[in-house]
Amino acid sequence: MGSVVLSLDAELAWGFHDHADLPDERVSSARESWLRLLELFDEFDVPATWAVVGHLMLDDCDGDHRDHPTEDGWFDRDPGTWERRDEEWYGSKLVDAIEGADADHEVGSHTFSHVEFGHTTREIAAAEMREAVEIAEDRGLTVDSVVFPRNYVGHRDVLAAYGVKSYRGVQPRRWYDRGLLGSAAKLLGWPTGLVSPTLVTPEVDEYGLVNIPASLYLFCFEGRARSLVEGVTGDPVVTMAKRGIDRAASEEGVFHMWLHPNNLTDDRDFDRMRAILSHLAEVRDRTPLKVQTMGEIAADLKDDEPLPREPIGPR
Ligand SMILES: [Zn+2]
Repeated sequence: MGSVVLSLDAELAWGFHDHADLPDERVSSARESWLRLLELFDEFDVPATWAVVGHLMLDDCDGDHRDHPTEDGWFDRDPGTWERRDEEWYGSKLVDAIEGADADHEVGSHTFSHVEFGHTTREIAAAEMREAVEIAEDRGLTVDSVVFPRNYVGHRDVLAAYGVKSYRGVQPRRWYDRGLLGSAAKLLGWPTGLVSPTLVTPEVDEYGLVNIPASLYLFCFEGRARSLVEGVTGDPVVTMAKRGIDRAASEEGVFHMWLHPNNLTDDRDFDRMRAILSHLAEVRDRTPLKVQTMGEIAADLKDDEPLPREPIGPR
């Protein structure tokens, strides 16, 4: 038997601050969705891994990040205020809510300010990890798991140096992830027999980090196409997620689903999550299937011996 992992990229406005325009609907609904998701996870007693942007762990800041080596302008949208005033840029209370939930969630990191690690310097990556780890430690948290912004994997040695134990790797690409044939498969509701969900195998990489690749992005099929299909075959993402959960209950491997709280902007998005979580809880309760956090998967795979920690640069 295998296990199921759910990870979330928790970022509010920081997920888009380097874009010309912020997607208003996603940003403005993100806090409420974050809290409603926590309620859903509690209802089904499902723990998740919340990869939180470090800046969100603050309840205020002065907007002055000049000692951070990112290029000029990177923090221009940071209002330099406090959470009640600009709640899209600070999330200290939301992190409190994760920690206060009944489900045993893990708080991981999504870097300090959502820098794409695949496209940045080692110096910037180190500063991002240093600040993220320090802010987490100020709250009494450790950063064991990281989700890379926009899934651009990079500077893994820096993660290892800061004591990180696991990261979410890139989802193995399947034929149905691309092209016309892939779109057709989704439109047909991912027909059984043709489309099998991806179970992944966590592996220790050359830096001693456990790579837990993604299996399924839960908001990979949206917009008009989704509306069209939902009316005919039901929500294809729910179909695929249930199939992945069933497979993990009978085979070795990990079924790793992921999403952003800001993906949920509509009631039908919560219906999707409720359908998936209720199936997950039902299968977990009657089979040996485990629901685990990224940190638990890493701990299972590695010895208890802690990694040597060599912080880069001043603290
Ligand atoms: Zn700031």
